[in-house]
Amino acid sequence: MEKQVNLKIGSGNCCSSINTVPIHLDFNEKESSSLPVVIIGAGPVGLAAAAHLAKLGERFLVLESGTHVGNHILQWGHVRLFSPWQYNIDKDARELLEKHGWDAPPPDELPTGKELVEDYLEKIANLPEIKPYIIVNSKVLSVSKKGLDKMKSANRENVPFILYVDRNGMTEQIEAKAVIDATGTWGQPNPANVDGVWTKEEISLQNNIHYGIPDINCKDRERYIGKRVAVIGGGHSAINTILELTKLNESSSDQIIWILRKNNVEEAYGGEENDALQARGELGSKIHQLVNSGRIKVYTPFYIQNILMEVGSLKIFGEFKGESYSIDGVDELIVNTGSRPDFTFLNEIRLQIDSATESVEVLAPLIDPNLHSCGTVRPHGEKELRQPEKNFYIAGMKSYGRAPTFLMATGYEQVRSIVAYLTGDYESAKKVELDLPETGVCSVNVTPEKQEQSCCSTSSNC
Ligand SMILES: Cc1cc2nc3c(=O)[nH]c(=O)nc-3n(C[C@H](O)[C@H](O)[C@H](O)COP(=O)(O)OP(=O)(O)OC[C@H]3O[C@@H](n4cnc5c(N)ncnc54)[C@H](O)[C@@H]3O)c2cc1C
Repeated sequence: MEKQVNLKIGSGNCCSSINTVPIHLDFNEKESSSLPVVIIGAGPVGLAAAAHLAKLGERFLVLESGTHVGNHILQWGHVRLFSPWQYNIDKDARELLEKHGWDAPPPDELPTGKELVEDYLEKIANLPEIKPYIIVNSKVLSVSKKGLDKMKSANRENVPFILYVDRNGMTEQIEAKAVIDATGTWGQPNPANVDGVWTKEEISLQNNIHYGIPDINCKDRERYIGKRVAVIGGGHSAINTILELTKLNESSSDQIIWILRKNNVEEAYGGEENDALQARGELGSKIHQLVNSGRIKVYTPFYIQNILMEVGSLKIFGEFKGESYSIDGVDELIVNTGSRPDFTFLNEIRLQIDSATESVEVLAPLIDPNLHSCGTVRPHGEKELRQPEKNFYIAGMKSYGRAPTFLMATGYEQVRSIVAYLTGDYESAKKVELDLPETGVCSVNVTPEKQEQSCCSTSSNC
C-alpha cells in the first residue's frame, strides 16, 4: 500500500520551526508508524543494506553527502578493480535488479570503478523500491539520541536516533529507529607526515598534493606531464602510480621520486616470480627493474616531517637513513598512504573502536593486515559489529578502520546479517557465510594486459 508519510525534518535545533518533507513510502499500515532505518552513505555497502531492507518491505532512508551514489568510487573511477563482478554484487540487490530485467555483467570480468557505479550502483539506486528513499547532497553532521546526550542512560534504548544533516546549507533533523554508518574511509586520506599528523603547512599545499590515485594518463595528464613528481607510499597504489608516471614522462630522468618508510626498497617488490599471484609478482618485478634502471630516484627509509613551498616548488623535509634531509624542487606530490575513518559525527554515540586499527573493536584481531589478507578474514556479522549503542552499526570499509583489507563481499554479508537482526530474524543474523577464494580476489590478480589498463585510464572515458 502506497502511503505518503511526513518524515520529521527540522531546520536548526529542536526549537526552531520543523519542516515536514513529504516522502512517498510504500509500506503497510503497521510499519508506517515506525521510524526508518537510516543508512549513511550510498556506496556499495550502503546500497546493499538498502536492498536488503527493501526486499523485506522495511522503511529506510539512505543519506548520501555526494551528488551521486558511489561518490567515493567515482573519485577512483579510472582504476580497474581486482575482484571480478561475481564478488562485487550483493545477493539481494541482484535479486531485485533481476526482477526488473537486469542482465548482470559477465562474472569473470573486472570492472573499473566507474563501471561498478554505472552498471551496478546506479541501477540499484534507480529501482522503484529504492529510488524514493535515497537523498543525495545530504551530509550527516552528527548522530545522537533524541533528547539525550552521550552521558544520559535512562531509557536510552527506547529513544529514537536523531541525525543532523546538512542539506543545501540548512541543518535538518531526521529521526531513525536504527542507523547503519556505511560512510567508508576514502574521504579521509592519511597525510604524508610520518607521524600521521596533518600539519598546517601540508594542509596549505593542497594545490600541489594529490591524495589517492590520480588519472595520470587521462583526466589529470596535463597536471603531471613534464613535472617532477614525488610518490609517497610502499603499497600497490604507489607502485601503480609510479608505473603510470613512467609512461607519461618516457624520456625524462630524475623526474620520479619514490619515498617509502620501508627499511629497504626490496620489501616493496613482494615475492616477484615466487608470488602466488602472477600479476602481483609482475608488478613487483616491473618496479624492481625500474628502480635498477635508475629511472626512479628512491628514498627509503624516509620519514617525512613536513612539506613547504619554496620558490614555487615543494621542499620535503624529513629524516633519510637517520639523518636530517630535504628533497627540493618537487612540482607535485602524490600521497598513497591509506585512509582513516571519520568519527567526528559520532561524538554523541557510544562506540567501541579498536585503539590501533580504528576498526570496530571486535574485528581488530580478525582483520590485522599483518596476519590476514582480505581473502582470509573470516565472515562476521551483526554480533561482531554490535556497538554499545543499541541498533547503531558501522559497516563496510569503515568497519575495518585503517586496515586496507576490506572487500565489498564482506560488507554485503555484514549488512545482510545486520538487517536480519533488525527485522527480528535472529537465526539468520547469526549464520554468517562468505564464499571467497583465499587468493585471486583480493590482490592485483589481473593479467598483465589488464593490469596495464587498471589504474592506467587508457579506458574509454579518456
Ligand atoms: C582504489 C580501490 C580499489 C578497490 N578495489 C576493490 C576490489 O577490487 N574489490 C573489493 O571488494 N574492494 C575493493 N576496494 C575496497 C572497498 O570495497 C571499496 O572501497 C568500497 O567502495 C567500500 O564500500 P563502502 O560502501 O563501505 O564505502 P564507500 O564506497 O567509500 O562509500 C561511502 C559513501 O558514504 C558517503 N559519505 C561519507 N561521509 C558521509 C556523511 N557524513 N554523510 C553522508 N554520506 C557520507 C560517501 O560520499 C560515499 O558515497 C577498493 C578500494 C579502493 C580505494
